[in-house]
Amino acid sequence: MQQDTGRAGALLKIDLTALRNNYRLLRGKLGTAACGAAVKADAYGLGALRVSQSLVEEGCRHLFVAHLEEAIALRAHIPDSVAIYVMHGSPIGYEAEFLEYRCIPVLNSAEQILAWRALAETKQTALPAIIQLDTGMSRMGLSGAEIQTWLADPDFIRGIQLQYLMSHLACAEDQQDPMNVQQLALFNRLRAQLPKCGASLANSSGIFLGADFHFDLARPGAALYGIAPIAGQPNPMQAVAHLQGKIIQTREIVAGAGVGYSMTWRSSRPSRIATVVVGYADGWLRALSNRGVVHLDGIAAPMVGNVSMDTITIDVSHMPLSKLAPGALVDLISSENTVDQVAARAGTIGYEILTSLGLRYQREYSDVPG
Ligand SMILES: *Cc1c(COP(=O)(O)O)cnc(C)c1O
Repeated sequence: MQQDTGRAGALLKIDLTALRNNYRLLRGKLGTAACGAAVKADAYGLGALRVSQSLVEEGCRHLFVAHLEEAIALRAHIPDSVAIYVMHGSPIGYEAEFLEYRCIPVLNSAEQILAWRALAETKQTALPAIIQLDTGMSRMGLSGAEIQTWLADPDFIRGIQLQYLMSHLACAEDQQDPMNVQQLALFNRLRAQLPKCGASLANSSGIFLGADFHFDLARPGAALYGIAPIAGQPNPMQAVAHLQGKIIQTREIVAGAGVGYSMTWRSSRPSRIATVVVGYADGWLRALSNRGVVHLDGIAAPMVGNVSMDTITIDVSHMPLSKLAPGALVDLISSENTVDQVAARAGTIGYEILTSLGLRYQREYSDVPG
């Protein structure tokens, strides 16, 4: 069945049933801990609203975004029974918008805590928050010194209704990495000294590190969207994103002809080249130049020449013209060429492939709830 890219050059199919199945699989591993979801960066490029709505239908009650802006965009469409957490906390001066839009900040520094406290004081009411602790990633959360200040001063979080202590794992996809148990041990040590409340440590990969890492609430992102959570092991997740690009032209070139900008590829023999209208402006990374592959009816065709802004060129010398008519679709992300495989060829991670997915695609959501 020939599918249509409409007015666009490519078709991005997003399988919400697979997303739901992935959510159920992760929740099943978690036992009694709640399964939240990271829906930052437009749910890793797949559409934060559609993804969040499906997850909420599956029972998800904790959504995590990075920026206040992302939270506000979601809030109008998501029931108030679902918490929306902003992992970067409030930009200083914007604290009141968290009340207006019923979002909860993850407080990452003494400065953010003071600003949230000040608002609680003004409003004369306790305000909910998560507080993040840095347990070794050196990126976000209270530093060791700030934690010491807190331990010495019980008023450090006066007026703050502490929902969860949270931290983030740096190396969770590598199950053998000693950093995992080091971070776990420090997190547990700090929790024992700080006020009693819920705890949240695991991202997708952290869920697969075992029950010690689960605590009260997990925050998976990547695995929900089909990215393999454990390095070097078969991927238990279902693919959610499928990308097909449209052939616009096919040509025969002579031996020695160059292809594309800077002619980084030359044919060693007479060749058949097809042009597909997806380029780096669509998130089909330029790093895939002369490295990527696409598939046509299950047959691989190598990407040749540099990726252009709006097009790629593929060597289809081994394919009959009947399969290469203008409008024919080639598989860019598929079961033969998963997000993780595309990423490996581009020298990056599946996260970057998904979050780079273009806004020029025709997007089609499929969903069979239940
Ligand atoms: C992005 C993010 C997550 C989700 O991580 P995945 O590896 O995609 O599961 C969880 N927690 C924090 C703090 C994050 O930044």
